[in-house]
Amino acid sequence: MSKGIFVVIEQVNGKVQNVGLELVGESTRLKEDLKDDVVAVLLGHNMESQVDKLFHYGADKVILVDDAMLENYATEPYTKAITAIVNEYDPEIMLFGASSIGRDVAPRVASRVKTGLVADTTGLRMAKTEAEFAKEASMGCTDPTRALLMTRPAFGGNIMATLMCPRTKPQMATVRPGVMKRIEKDTTKTGELIKFPIEFTAADMNIEILDVVKADKKSVDLTEATMIVSGGRGVGNAEGFSYIRDMADALGAEVGSSRACVDAQWIEKDRQVGQTGKTVRPLLYMACGISGAIQHVAGMENSEVVISINKNESAPIFEVSDLGIVGDLKVILPKLAEAVRKYKEAKASN
Ligand SMILES: Cc1cc2nc3c(=O)[nH]c(=O)nc-3n(C[C@H](O)[C@H](O)[C@H](O)COP(=O)(O)OP(=O)(O)OC[C@H]3O[C@@H](n4cnc5c(N)ncnc54)[C@H](O)[C@@H]3O)c2cc1C
Repeated sequence: MSKGIFVVIEQVNGKVQNVGLELVGESTRLKEDLKDDVVAVLLGHNMESQVDKLFHYGADKVILVDDAMLENYATEPYTKAITAIVNEYDPEIMLFGASSIGRDVAPRVASRVKTGLVADTTGLRMAKTEAEFAKEASMGCTDPTRALLMTRPAFGGNIMATLMCPRTKPQMATVRPGVMKRIEKDTTKTGELIKFPIEFTAADMNIEILDVVKADKKSVDLTEATMIVSGGRGVGNAEGFSYIRDMADALGAEVGSSRACVDAQWIEKDRQVGQTGKTVRPLLYMACGISGAIQHVAGMENSEVVISINKNESAPIFEVSDLGIVGDLKVILPKLAEAVRKYKEAKASN
Protein backbone atom coordinates (compact mmCIF):
# COMPACT_ATOMS: atom_id res chain seq x y z
CA MET A 1 0.00 0.00 0.00
CA SER A 2 1.24 3.51 -0.80
CA LYS A 3 2.34 5.24 2.37
CA GLY A 4 3.71 8.56 3.58
CA ILE A 5 3.31 12.26 2.91
CA PHE A 6 6.50 13.18 1.05
CA VAL A 7 7.70 16.76 0.62
CA VAL A 8 10.48 17.65 -1.81
CA ILE A 9 12.57 20.25 0.00
CA GLU A 10 14.21 23.01 -1.99
CA GLN A 11 17.64 24.24 -1.11
CA VAL A 12 19.63 27.10 -2.52
CA ASN A 13 23.33 27.44 -1.65
CA GLY A 14 22.89 24.60 0.82
CA LYS A 15 20.10 26.35 2.75
CA VAL A 16 16.61 24.89 3.03
CA GLN A 17 14.04 27.28 1.53
CA ASN A 18 10.89 28.40 3.31
CA VAL A 19 8.47 26.81 0.88
CA GLY A 20 9.70 23.35 1.93
CA LEU A 21 9.13 24.14 5.61
CA GLU A 22 5.65 25.46 4.80
CA LEU A 23 4.82 22.19 3.02
CA VAL A 24 6.19 20.12 5.88
CA GLY A 25 3.88 22.17 8.17
CA GLU A 26 0.90 21.52 5.91
CA SER A 27 1.79 17.81 5.81
CA THR A 28 1.60 17.62 9.61
CA ARG A 29 -2.00 18.86 9.26
CA LEU A 30 -2.78 16.23 6.58
CA LYS A 31 -1.21 13.64 8.89
CA GLU A 32 -3.92 14.28 11.50
CA ASP A 33 -6.35 12.57 9.09
CA LEU A 34 -4.07 10.25 7.12
CA LYS A 35 -1.94 9.06 10.09
CA ASP A 36 1.07 8.54 7.78
CA ASP A 37 4.58 9.84 8.44
CA VAL A 38 5.74 13.17 7.06
CA VAL A 39 8.87 12.50 5.00
CA ALA A 40 11.13 15.33 3.82
CA VAL A 41 13.16 14.57 0.68
CA LEU A 42 16.37 16.58 0.69
CA LEU A 43 18.72 16.63 -2.31
CA GLY A 44 22.07 18.41 -2.36
CA HIS A 45 25.69 18.15 -1.34
CA ASN A 46 26.97 18.35 2.24
CA MET A 47 23.48 19.13 3.50
CA GLU A 48 23.49 17.22 6.78
CA SER A 49 23.55 20.41 8.86
CA GLN A 50 20.04 21.19 7.52
CA VAL A 51 18.45 17.87 8.50
CA ASP A 52 17.60 18.77 12.12
CA LYS A 53 15.75 21.87 10.93
CA LEU A 54 13.39 19.63 8.97
CA PHE A 55 12.68 17.55 12.08
CA HIS A 56 12.15 20.73 14.13
CA TYR A 57 9.52 21.93 11.65
CA GLY A 58 7.56 18.67 11.66
CA ALA A 59 9.24 15.98 9.50
CA ASP A 60 9.21 12.46 10.98
CA LYS A 61 11.82 11.21 8.52
CA VAL A 62 14.32 12.80 6.17
CA ILE A 63 15.51 11.01 3.05
CA LEU A 64 18.83 12.56 2.11
CA VAL A 65 20.47 12.13 -1.28
CA ASP A 66 23.96 13.57 -1.15
CA ASP A 67 25.97 13.99 -4.33
CA ALA A 68 28.15 16.72 -5.83
CA MET A 69 25.89 16.60 -8.89
CA LEU A 70 22.98 17.79 -6.74
CA GLU A 71 24.75 20.83 -5.26
CA ASN A 72 22.89 23.21 -7.60
CA TYR A 73 19.49 22.43 -9.07
CA ALA A 74 19.67 20.71 -12.46
CA THR A 75 16.64 19.11 -14.09
CA GLU A 76 17.92 15.66 -15.00
CA PRO A 77 19.76 14.53 -11.84
CA TYR A 78 16.98 15.90 -9.60
CA THR A 79 14.32 14.14 -11.68
CA LYS A 80 16.28 10.90 -11.55
CA ALA A 81 16.75 11.06 -7.77
CA ILE A 82 13.13 11.90 -6.93
CA THR A 83 11.82 9.26 -9.37
CA ALA A 84 14.06 6.65 -7.71
CA ILE A 85 12.69 7.62 -4.28
CA VAL A 86 9.08 7.34 -5.49
CA ASN A 87 9.80 3.92 -7.00
CA GLU A 88 11.47 2.74 -3.79
CA TYR A 89 9.02 4.10 -1.17
CA ASP A 90 5.69 4.34 -3.05
CA PRO A 91 4.43 7.52 -1.30
CA GLU A 92 0.71 8.20 -0.88
CA ILE A 93 1.20 11.95 -1.38
CA MET A 94 4.08 13.97 -2.80
CA LEU A 95 4.27 17.77 -2.56
CA PHE A 96 6.54 20.30 -4.29
CA GLY A 97 6.78 24.09 -4.10
CA ALA A 98 5.21 25.84 -7.09
CA SER A 99 8.54 27.64 -7.51
CA SER A 100 10.65 27.61 -10.64
CA ILE A 101 12.36 24.44 -9.37
CA GLY A 102 9.13 22.66 -8.38
CA ARG A 103 7.42 23.65 -11.61
CA ASP A 104 10.31 22.21 -13.59
CA VAL A 105 10.84 18.93 -11.78
CA ALA A 106 7.34 17.90 -10.58
CA PRO A 107 5.76 17.30 -14.03
CA ARG A 108 8.80 15.27 -15.12
CA VAL A 109 8.60 13.04 -12.06
CA ALA A 110 4.81 12.69 -12.52
CA SER A 111 5.35 11.63 -16.11
CA ARG A 112 8.07 9.10 -15.25
CA VAL A 113 6.10 7.43 -12.45
CA LYS A 114 2.87 7.67 -14.48
CA THR A 115 0.70 9.63 -12.08
CA GLY A 116 -1.19 12.93 -12.22
CA LEU A 117 -0.11 16.35 -10.97
CA VAL A 118 -2.20 19.29 -9.81
CA ALA A 119 -0.20 22.49 -10.30
CA ASP A 120 -0.37 25.69 -8.30
CA THR A 121 -2.68 24.48 -5.55
CA THR A 122 -3.78 26.82 -2.79
CA GLY A 123 -5.61 24.30 -0.58
CA LEU A 124 -5.11 20.64 0.36
CA ARG A 125 -7.19 18.35 2.54
CA MET A 126 -8.08 14.69 2.88
CA ALA A 127 -11.55 13.55 1.72
CA LYS A 128 -13.82 13.34 4.76
CA THR A 129 -17.51 13.20 3.90
CA GLU A 130 -19.53 10.27 2.59
CA ALA A 131 -20.26 12.28 -0.58
CA GLU A 132 -16.53 12.80 -1.17
CA PHE A 133 -15.80 9.11 -0.56
CA ALA A 134 -18.58 8.15 -3.00
CA LYS A 135 -17.24 10.53 -5.66
CA GLU A 136 -13.71 9.15 -5.32
CA ALA A 137 -15.00 5.55 -5.42
CA SER A 138 -17.07 6.26 -8.53
CA MET A 139 -13.85 7.39 -10.23
CA GLY A 140 -12.01 4.18 -9.44
CA CYS A 141 -10.34 5.07 -6.13
CA THR A 142 -9.83 1.87 -4.13
CA ASP A 143 -9.45 3.58 -0.72
CA PRO A 144 -11.34 6.90 -0.74
CA THR A 145 -10.46 7.53 2.93
CA ARG A 146 -6.88 8.17 1.73
CA ALA A 147 -7.87 10.52 -1.11
CA LEU A 148 -6.37 14.00 -1.28
CA LEU A 149 -8.54 16.91 -2.44
CA MET A 150 -6.44 19.57 -4.16
CA THR A 151 -7.87 23.05 -4.72
CA ARG A 152 -6.62 25.66 -7.16
CA PRO A 153 -7.99 28.68 -9.04
CA ALA A 154 -9.36 27.85 -12.49
CA PHE A 155 -10.85 29.70 -15.47
CA GLY A 156 -8.79 32.84 -14.92
CA GLY A 157 -9.33 32.70 -11.18
CA ASN A 158 -13.11 33.03 -11.43
CA ILE A 159 -13.73 29.71 -9.72
CA MET A 160 -11.85 27.53 -7.28
CA ALA A 161 -11.67 23.96 -8.60
CA THR A 162 -11.06 20.92 -6.39
CA LEU A 163 -9.26 18.09 -8.16
CA MET A 164 -8.55 14.48 -7.29
CA CYS A 165 -6.14 11.85 -8.51
CA PRO A 166 -8.16 8.71 -7.70
CA ARG A 167 -6.44 5.93 -9.63
CA THR A 168 -2.66 6.50 -9.45
CA LYS A 169 -0.08 7.18 -6.76
CA PRO A 170 1.49 9.32 -5.50
CA GLN A 171 -1.18 12.00 -5.38
CA MET A 172 1.02 14.89 -6.45
CA ALA A 173 0.66 18.66 -6.19
CA THR A 174 2.74 21.80 -6.41
CA VAL A 175 1.84 24.45 -3.84
CA ARG A 176 2.50 28.15 -4.12
CA PRO A 177 5.13 29.58 -1.76
CA GLY A 178 3.56 31.59 1.04
CA VAL A 179 0.18 29.85 0.95
CA MET A 180 0.74 27.24 3.67
CA LYS A 181 1.92 27.97 7.19
CA ARG A 182 5.00 26.59 8.89
CA ILE A 183 4.34 25.05 12.26
CA GLU A 184 5.97 26.37 15.42
CA LYS A 185 9.60 25.25 15.58
CA ASP A 186 10.25 22.52 18.16
CA THR A 187 13.98 22.13 18.72
CA THR A 188 13.44 19.00 20.84
CA LYS A 189 11.87 17.06 17.98
CA THR A 190 14.03 14.48 16.23
CA GLY A 191 13.37 11.86 13.57
CA GLU A 192 14.88 9.20 11.37
CA LEU A 193 17.53 10.12 8.80
CA ILE A 194 17.66 7.79 5.78
CA LYS A 195 20.62 8.18 3.45
CA PHE A 196 19.53 7.15 -0.01
CA PRO A 197 22.42 6.39 -2.37
CA ILE A 198 22.02 6.98 -6.08
CA GLU A 199 24.58 6.14 -8.74
CA PHE A 200 24.93 9.12 -11.03
CA THR A 201 26.88 8.93 -14.24
CA ALA A 202 28.23 11.78 -16.37
CA ALA A 203 25.31 11.18 -18.74
CA ASP A 204 22.88 12.26 -15.98
CA MET A 205 24.20 15.82 -16.15
CA ASN A 206 22.97 16.99 -19.52
CA ILE A 207 23.79 20.63 -18.84
CA GLU A 208 26.89 22.47 -17.73
CA ILE A 209 26.55 25.12 -15.00
CA LEU A 210 28.98 27.87 -15.98
CA ASP A 211 28.09 30.35 -13.28
CA VAL A 212 25.50 30.85 -10.55
CA VAL A 213 24.35 34.48 -10.54
CA LYS A 214 22.61 35.80 -7.46
CA ALA A 215 19.33 37.63 -8.04
CA ASP A 216 19.63 41.40 -8.27
CA LYS A 217 19.63 42.74 -4.70
CA LYS A 218 16.94 45.25 -5.64
CA SER A 219 14.44 42.48 -6.35
CA VAL A 220 12.21 41.72 -3.38
CA ASP A 221 10.69 38.60 -1.95
CA LEU A 222 7.24 39.72 -0.85
CA THR A 223 6.42 36.23 0.41
CA GLU A 224 8.82 36.85 3.31
CA ALA A 225 7.58 40.35 4.21
CA THR A 226 5.86 40.90 7.56
CA MET A 227 4.20 44.15 6.41
CA ILE A 228 3.21 45.19 2.88
CA VAL A 229 1.72 48.47 1.65
CA SER A 230 0.24 47.87 -1.80
CA GLY A 231 -0.88 50.39 -4.36
CA GLY A 232 -3.47 49.93 -7.08
CA ARG A 233 -4.71 51.90 -10.08
CA GLY A 234 -6.09 54.41 -7.57
CA VAL A 235 -2.59 55.87 -7.12
CA GLY A 236 -3.13 57.45 -10.55
CA ASN A 237 0.31 57.07 -12.15
CA ALA A 238 3.89 55.95 -11.49
CA GLU A 239 4.58 59.08 -9.42
CA GLY A 240 1.55 58.25 -7.28
CA PHE A 241 3.52 55.36 -5.83
CA SER A 242 5.47 57.92 -3.78
CA TYR A 243 2.49 57.90 -1.35
CA ILE A 244 2.77 54.13 -1.06
CA ARG A 245 6.58 54.18 -0.66
CA ASP A 246 6.39 56.86 2.01
CA MET A 247 3.83 54.88 4.02
CA ALA A 248 5.92 51.71 3.62
CA ASP A 249 9.02 53.61 4.73
CA ALA A 250 7.25 54.90 7.85
CA LEU A 251 6.16 51.38 8.81
CA GLY A 252 9.32 49.57 7.67
CA ALA A 253 7.16 47.63 5.20
CA GLU A 254 7.66 46.37 1.64
CA VAL A 255 5.83 47.93 -1.32
CA GLY A 256 3.35 45.76 -3.20
CA SER A 257 1.05 46.35 -6.13
CA SER A 258 -1.96 45.17 -8.06
CA ARG A 259 -1.45 43.86 -11.57
CA ALA A 260 -3.04 46.96 -13.09
CA CYS A 261 -0.01 49.03 -12.04
CA VAL A 262 2.47 46.39 -13.21
CA ASP A 263 0.74 46.24 -16.60
CA ALA A 264 0.89 50.04 -16.78
CA GLN A 265 4.64 49.80 -15.99
CA TRP A 266 4.27 52.00 -12.91
CA ILE A 267 6.12 49.38 -10.85
CA GLU A 268 8.20 46.21 -11.28
CA LYS A 269 6.58 42.82 -11.77
CA ASP A 270 8.18 41.30 -8.63
CA ARG A 271 5.93 43.60 -6.55
CA GLN A 272 2.71 42.14 -7.95
CA VAL A 273 0.42 40.41 -5.47
CA GLY A 274 -2.24 38.00 -6.68
CA GLN A 275 -3.02 34.98 -8.73
CA THR A 276 -0.36 35.67 -11.33
CA GLY A 277 1.92 37.45 -8.87
CA LYS A 278 3.01 36.59 -5.34
CA THR A 279 0.92 34.93 -2.66
CA VAL A 280 1.65 36.81 0.55
CA ARG A 281 0.84 36.25 4.19
CA PRO A 282 2.13 39.31 6.10
CA LEU A 283 1.03 40.40 9.56
CA LEU A 284 -0.25 43.63 7.97
CA TYR A 285 -1.43 44.18 4.38
CA MET A 286 -2.52 47.68 3.36
CA ALA A 287 -4.46 47.83 0.09
CA CYS A 288 -4.53 51.41 -1.19
CA GLY A 289 -6.56 52.28 -4.30
CA ILE A 290 -7.09 48.58 -5.04
CA SER A 291 -10.62 47.49 -5.96
CA GLY A 292 -10.31 43.90 -4.67
CA ALA A 293 -10.64 41.80 -7.82
CA ILE A 294 -10.75 38.07 -7.10
CA GLN A 295 -7.32 37.60 -8.71
CA HIS A 296 -5.76 40.14 -6.35
CA VAL A 297 -7.56 38.84 -3.27
CA ALA A 298 -6.32 35.29 -4.05
CA GLY A 299 -2.80 36.51 -3.27
CA MET A 300 -3.41 38.41 -0.02
CA GLU A 301 -6.51 37.04 1.69
CA ASN A 302 -4.44 35.05 4.22
CA SER A 303 -2.82 38.20 5.60
CA GLU A 304 -3.21 38.50 9.35
CA VAL A 305 -4.68 42.05 9.27
CA VAL A 306 -5.91 43.89 6.17
CA ILE A 307 -6.41 47.65 6.10
CA SER A 308 -7.89 49.17 2.93
CA ILE A 309 -8.21 52.69 1.65
CA ASN A 310 -10.59 53.28 -1.24
CA LYS A 311 -12.69 56.19 -2.51
CA ASN A 312 -15.55 53.84 -3.34
CA GLU A 313 -17.34 52.60 -0.23
CA SER A 314 -18.69 49.58 -2.18
CA ALA A 315 -15.25 48.41 -3.35
CA PRO A 316 -15.03 44.60 -2.90
CA ILE A 317 -11.68 44.95 -1.10
CA PHE A 318 -13.63 46.07 1.99
CA GLU A 319 -15.20 42.59 2.18
CA VAL A 320 -11.81 41.05 2.97
CA SER A 321 -10.59 43.92 5.18
CA ASP A 322 -10.39 44.13 8.95
CA LEU A 323 -10.40 47.92 8.72
CA GLY A 324 -11.68 49.98 5.80
CA ILE A 325 -11.08 53.69 5.26
CA VAL A 326 -13.29 55.39 2.67
CA GLY A 327 -11.44 58.31 1.15
CA ASP A 328 -8.64 59.58 -1.05
CA LEU A 329 -5.38 57.73 -0.45
CA LYS A 330 -3.44 60.89 -1.30
CA VAL A 331 -5.04 62.63 1.66
CA ILE A 332 -5.10 59.72 4.10
CA LEU A 333 -1.68 58.12 3.57
CA PRO A 334 0.46 61.19 4.41
CA LYS A 335 -1.52 61.65 7.64
CA LEU A 336 -1.16 57.99 8.56
CA ALA A 337 2.58 57.99 7.74
CA GLU A 338 3.11 61.08 9.89
CA ALA A 339 1.18 59.51 12.77
CA VAL A 340 3.26 56.32 12.54
CA ARG A 341 6.53 58.29 12.53
CA LYS A 342 5.42 60.36 15.55
CA TYR A 343 4.40 57.21 17.39
CA LYS A 344 7.77 55.57 16.66
CA GLU A 345 9.69 58.67 17.75
CA ALA A 346 7.72 58.88 20.99
CA LYS A 347 8.34 55.19 21.63
CA ALA A 348 12.06 55.54 20.95
CA SER A 349 12.43 58.48 23.34
CA ASN A 350 10.66 56.63 26.20
C1 LIG B 1 -6.01 35.61 -15.48
C2 LIG B 1 -5.91 36.87 -14.68
C3 LIG B 1 -4.95 36.97 -13.71
C4 LIG B 1 -4.84 38.13 -12.93
N1 LIG B 1 -3.89 38.19 -11.95
C5 LIG B 1 -3.85 39.29 -11.15
C6 LIG B 1 -2.92 39.38 -10.07
O1 LIG B 1 -2.09 38.49 -9.85
N2 LIG B 1 -2.96 40.48 -9.28
C7 LIG B 1 -3.84 41.52 -9.48
O2 LIG B 1 -3.81 42.49 -8.72
N3 LIG B 1 -4.70 41.46 -10.52
C8 LIG B 1 -4.71 40.39 -11.35
N4 LIG B 1 -5.58 40.38 -12.41
C9 LIG B 1 -6.30 41.63 -12.74
C10 LIG B 1 -7.54 41.86 -11.90
O3 LIG B 1 -8.64 41.21 -12.48
C11 LIG B 1 -7.84 43.37 -11.78
O4 LIG B 1 -7.98 43.88 -13.09
C12 LIG B 1 -6.78 44.17 -11.05
O5 LIG B 1 -6.49 43.55 -9.81
C13 LIG B 1 -7.30 45.59 -10.82
O6 LIG B 1 -6.30 46.34 -10.20
P1 LIG B 1 -6.71 47.59 -9.27
O7 LIG B 1 -7.53 47.11 -8.14
O8 LIG B 1 -5.43 48.28 -8.96
O9 LIG B 1 -7.49 48.52 -10.27
P2 LIG B 1 -9.02 48.87 -10.36
O10 LIG B 1 -9.87 47.66 -10.39
O11 LIG B 1 -9.16 49.84 -11.47
O12 LIG B 1 -9.33 49.60 -8.98
C14 LIG B 1 -8.83 50.85 -8.62
C15 LIG B 1 -9.49 51.21 -7.29
O13 LIG B 1 -8.92 52.41 -6.80
C16 LIG B 1 -9.95 53.21 -6.22
N5 LIG B 1 -9.45 54.58 -6.24
C17 LIG B 1 -9.29 55.39 -7.33
N6 LIG B 1 -8.70 56.56 -6.96
C18 LIG B 1 -8.50 56.48 -5.62
C19 LIG B 1 -7.93 57.36 -4.66
N7 LIG B 1 -7.42 58.55 -5.00
N8 LIG B 1 -7.91 56.98 -3.36
C20 LIG B 1 -8.40 55.75 -2.99
N9 LIG B 1 -8.96 54.88 -3.85
C21 LIG B 1 -8.98 55.23 -5.15
C22 LIG B 1 -11.16 52.92 -7.06
O14 LIG B 1 -12.36 53.18 -6.34
C23 LIG B 1 -10.99 51.46 -7.39
O15 LIG B 1 -11.65 50.63 -6.43
C24 LIG B 1 -5.71 39.23 -13.18
C25 LIG B 1 -6.68 39.13 -14.17
C26 LIG B 1 -6.78 37.96 -14.91
C27 LIG B 1 -7.85 37.86 -15.97
